[in-house]
Amino acid sequence: MPMPAAVSAALDPDRALRRLAGYVARPAISCDPAHHADVEALAEAVSADLAALGLQAEVLRLPGALPSVAAAWMGAGPDAPTVLVYGHLDLQPVKGEPWTSDPHTLTQRGERVFARGASDDMGGWVSHLEAIQAYLEAEGGLPVNLRLLIEGEEEIGSPNLERYMDAFPEAFAADVMILTDCENPSPTQPGLTVSLRGLLEVELRCAALEADGHSGLWGGMVPDVSLALMRLVSRLCDEDGRMAIGRVEVPADWRAAAWEVPLSPAVIHAGAHLLPGVSALPDRGRPPAEWMWRQPSITVVATSLPTAERKKNALRTAASATLSVRLAPGQTIDEMIGLLRAVLLADPPAGVEVSVEQGKNASEGWLYTPRGPAFAAADRAYRASWGQPLLQVGVGGSIPFVALFGRRYGDLPLILNGVMDPESTAHGPNESLHLGVFAKAIAANAALYAELGALGKVGLRA
Ligand SMILES: [Zn+2]
Repeated sequence: MPMPAAVSAALDPDRALRRLAGYVARPAISCDPAHHADVEALAEAVSADLAALGLQAEVLRLPGALPSVAAAWMGAGPDAPTVLVYGHLDLQPVKGEPWTSDPHTLTQRGERVFARGASDDMGGWVSHLEAIQAYLEAEGGLPVNLRLLIEGEEEIGSPNLERYMDAFPEAFAADVMILTDCENPSPTQPGLTVSLRGLLEVELRCAALEADGHSGLWGGMVPDVSLALMRLVSRLCDEDGRMAIGRVEVPADWRAAAWEVPLSPAVIHAGAHLLPGVSALPDRGRPPAEWMWRQPSITVVATSLPTAERKKNALRTAASATLSVRLAPGQTIDEMIGLLRAVLLADPPAGVEVSVEQGKNASEGWLYTPRGPAFAAADRAYRASWGQPLLQVGVGGSIPFVALFGRRYGDLPLILNGVMDPESTAHGPNESLHLGVFAKAIAANAALYAELGALGKVGLRA
C-alpha cells in the first residue's frame, strides 16, 4: 500500500534540513563532561519540538546517566502495529580534527551537507520527524502507532541503555523496531544491516630474562623478546597479513550475493585513505564484504616494544602486545580465546614464557535473518522511494546498542537502516550527509509507515 499522494506532496526535505541545522548547532558531545549541558539542552529542545508536532513527548532521566527523549503518537488504534524508531542525540568529539567548515554549522558543498551529527545520527531521526510531520499535516494522523526513543549516550557505548529499557518498558513497547544508525552501501543503494562482528582484546606477553642483558655480549645465543613477540603474532596471520585462524563457513548463497556489494578495490582504496602505491589485500576468491563483515580479523593496537626514547643496546626482559580481534558474527569469545591460546602457547621460541589474557573489551557479534511480512513491507517501501530493494549488509565493527536490541528484542522485526554512506566519514573530520540519500530516506520512512499500517498488527505477525 503506497503512501497517500497528499503525504508525498507534504514531504519537505528543505524543512527537514532547517531542523537538522538547528540540532547540529548544539555540540552534544557525550564523551566530554564539559558538553553534558548541551546534551541536556538538546534533549529538552527535541522533546519540545516533538510535542509541538503533536506527539506525547518527555525527557527520560536516570541517575548517573545522560537523558533520553521518548515520544509517542498512539492514535492509530489497537489493531495498528506500534513502530519504535530508535536514534541517538549525542555526538562524537571534533577536537584536533581538520574540518573544512565549522563542525557545528550545517554547511552545504555540492550534493552534501557537512556537520558533526549530520549523518550520525541526527540526520537519521530527523528524517523520521519529517515523515511524521508530513503525515500529520496531510492526513491528520499516522497509519501506525509510533514511538521514538532518542538516546543520549550511544557514542560512549550506550552504558545505560539497558537500564532505560528496564526502567521505562513502556517507552520501548512495540511490534516492530526501526533502528536508524546504520549505513547504506552507496548513495543509490539502500542498506539493511543484518550482522555485526564482535570485539575481543587480548594481552599477549612474553618474558625471557630476569634483567636486561648486553646485546654485544649475549646477542646471538640469547632470545630477543621483541622478535619472539613478533614471531608469535605472525603465527596468527597468513601471507597476506590476514588473520589465519578462526575462519568460519559462510553460506554459498550469501557469498554469491556479497559480490554485489559495491566494495571494489577502488572503493576500499578511497574509503580507507590508502597511500597511492598501497593496495587493498587480495580477495583470494572471497568477496571483500565477507572479509570485512563475516570473517575474523586482527589488529595490533598497542605494544611495549622498546621506543626510541628507551633505546639501548640490550636484550630486554619482556615484551607485550594488545591484540584487537574482530570476531565473526556468531563466533564466541571463549571459542576465539581457546584458538588463540592453542596457537600462541604451543612450542614457544627458545622456551620464552608466554601468556595470553583476555582484555577489558569483549563483546560478541550478532547475526540476524530478516524474514517475514515486516521485511517484505520494507522492501516495497524502499523500492518505491529509492528505486532499489534493500541490500543486506554487515558492519565490521561492534555497535553495543544493536547487540543489546538484538538480545532484548530479537524476536521482533528489527529494521536497521540509516542515512550514512561510505563517504559520510562518521566519527571523522568533515562528517557529511548526502542530500539525495536524505530525501530518499524521508520518503522511505513515510512509505514504510504506510506499508506497516496496511499490514496491521495481525498481518505483521503472519
Ligand atoms: Zn551513531
